[in-house]
Amino acid sequence: MVVVMKPGFTQAQMETVKGAMEAGGVKVMVSKGAQTTILGAEGDASGLDQEHLSQLPGVEQVMRVSEPYKKANRKFHPDDSVIEIGRGVQVGGKKLAVIAGPCSVESREQMVGVARAVQAAGAAAMRGGAYKPRTSPYSFQGKGEEGIRLLQEARQATGIPIVTELMSPDQLPLFLEAVDVIQIGARNMQNFDLLKKVGRTNKPILLKRGLSATVEEWLMSAEYIMSEGNPNVILCERGIRTFETYTRNTLDLSAVLAVKLLSHLPVVVDPSHACGRAWMVEGMAMAAVAAGADGLLIEVHNDPANALCDGAQSITPEQFEGLMGKVRSVAACVGREV
Ligand code: PEP
Ligand code: MN
Repeated sequence: MVVVMKPGFTQAQMETVKGAMEAGGVKVMVSKGAQTTILGAEGDASGLDQEHLSQLPGVEQVMRVSEPYKKANRKFHPDDSVIEIGRGVQVGGKKLAVIAGPCSVESREQMVGVARAVQAAGAAAMRGGAYKPRTSPYSFQGKGEEGIRLLQEARQATGIPIVTELMSPDQLPLFLEAVDVIQIGARNMQNFDLLKKVGRTNKPILLKRGLSATVEEWLMSAEYIMSEGNPNVILCERGIRTFETYTRNTLDLSAVLAVKLLSHLPVVVDPSHACGRAWMVEGMAMAAVAAGADGLLIEVHNDPANALCDGAQSITPEQFEGLMGKVRSVAACVGREV
């Protein structure tokens, strides 16, 4: 249940409402937005008296929230969340956040070279996997801690924040010390233990949509993180599994619109893993921005033909520069900047 306060309500009125809600057995989350202040009930709201609450002074409206996600729900937090991922770098504001870099960290030259190139083209952050969730145990599994150190070198060379995937709670202390944004991959979207653990930190979390997850399941995974106290969740649409095999996955851009309606969390789009084909990345990146995405995640490799992972979907730094030019034009059409 959420209680919407009237414009000009007093602090004392709000305290009375909060007290009445707490007496009904819930915790109260206060969201002070630009236009409205909302008191959201966390927990079992069946003991709340909607009629009584709606008659209290200062109350505009009382609504039942039927969705199972609360903290991620826009009804609890009408304004868009803007998440800080580095000094002066935000996801969710007017400016789009483009995160770019190779699928996996391979070498110092690669990381520093790609970081400089994508930064020059306007990327807000650098990506690179050090712990890789590969379908085959015989495929390259990532460079592990050495990869994290190389990401740090790329950050040192450019100043842009670094984003990388966490696969196990064992790696969490290293990630807390070394990285700016923790990525939870599609395969771990419903690893609830991992979600709870990152929920107990205050690091920004990039939560990818599961391979076959519905929008509601995806938002419930965000809720797992937020319910532990971490509000810094960025959603990432990366394509879902359908009957189509021409593309690696099917990019569900309608999910961007759904999530922007249902939730206040920012959503970025990863056309690289969605399509699996480098030549499609630019077109789908433009479409994502037109659809209202708050940013992009793009795989960029200095030598895609020889990449240790996901070369077929990786674009070169030169192609990335071209993509950014086109994305900039589309962004201007929809009132955004890059
Ligand atoms: C990745 O970003 O490198 C990755 C493995 O993505 P996903 O979890 O979306 O497959
Ligand atoms: Mn990849």
